[in-house]
Amino acid sequence: MKGAFKIAKMFGIPVKIHWSFFLLPAWAVGSSVYNGMDWNAAGWFLIYILTLFVCVLLHEFGHILMARRYGVGTEDVILTPIGGMARLHRMPEKPKNEFAVSIAGPLVNVGIAILLSPSLYFAPMRDILPVLDNLDLLFAGPEYLLRILIIANLMLVGFNLLPAFPLDGGRILRAGLSFRLGRRRGTRIAAIIGKLMAMGLFGMGVYLWAPSFILIGIFVFVMASIEYRAVANEDVLRNTTVAELVNYDFTKVYDTMPMSEVLRLYSLGLASDFVVMTDAGRPLGMLSQKEIEHVLHHDDLDATAGDYFTVLPGYLRKEMKLNVAESIIKRSKKSLLPVIEEDVVVGCLSLKSIKHYMLFKRRLMTIRF
Ligand SMILES: [Zn+2]
Repeated sequence: MKGAFKIAKMFGIPVKIHWSFFLLPAWAVGSSVYNGMDWNAAGWFLIYILTLFVCVLLHEFGHILMARRYGVGTEDVILTPIGGMARLHRMPEKPKNEFAVSIAGPLVNVGIAILLSPSLYFAPMRDILPVLDNLDLLFAGPEYLLRILIIANLMLVGFNLLPAFPLDGGRILRAGLSFRLGRRRGTRIAAIIGKLMAMGLFGMGVYLWAPSFILIGIFVFVMASIEYRAVANEDVLRNTTVAELVNYDFTKVYDTMPMSEVLRLYSLGLASDFVVMTDAGRPLGMLSQKEIEHVLHHDDLDATAGDYFTVLPGYLRKEMKLNVAESIIKRSKKSLLPVIEEDVVVGCLSLKSIKHYMLFKRRLMTIRF
């Protein structure tokens, strides 16, 4: 994510902060000071907010460590003003595992609240009620910190359990529905429920004139559509094999071919990555823009494709499912990869044609809602 920088590493996962993260405490404390809060209280207010974000971070690590148990890694965690975001490499597809990963976050907050609860014996919750509307007293020192953390953690649990994507409650709902209905229908119904909730939040925001509700409503509405589309796409890809999309009429480059000829093919704009093979069609490697630019730069036109090709970063087989093929091509960082049968290149498949196919299939099914 642009604008995020790393501040620490926990359990081997980079913890990043988005610059906008600082807007929230700056705004909260700044506007309080503007409204007459004294500097001592402002300082404590800031500490309260930062402690709360530590709880949010622990929540994210609940998800991350549970996902790790199912063999799912995590790219990073980013703290933003609207909360934490753990970017898991994928969601476990088994409903049981998705449920466990989703519930682990809120359970961390329940755990924090329980751990802090013995302090209520010495400082009862009812004492905080009279000062809730007097921020100068509330943040005069650390005496209300634990109680506020208990309340805030329970509020985090409540908010995150709202049954709407991308909140944990949305995923928990989807997991529950997927048990009986399958992942796609489960997601569809969970998305509809999320959208209804989003409209409710939006309406309430307008009625009460609470801009944060309006924003969250819009956010949840958009995320429900994105989530469903992603699952529907995955469904299309999983039910199709590479065989249906192979391009047999691809631009062939042989190792003996002079680079001047490769440049001519490149100039036609038919492809930006070429598979290099022997006369018998055995795959040797690939030529991409980088190598071609090098030849142009050094005017090395007498060289052959055999002098310049780089190692084949991967290949596909006809019987592969498209979702597998897509991830292999993406990982190779090429626009296409060869399809190989009995050690011979029979065709190519590009990311572009997978995308095109997916859009076309989805329009045929008219699964929008
Ligand atoms: Zn969560």
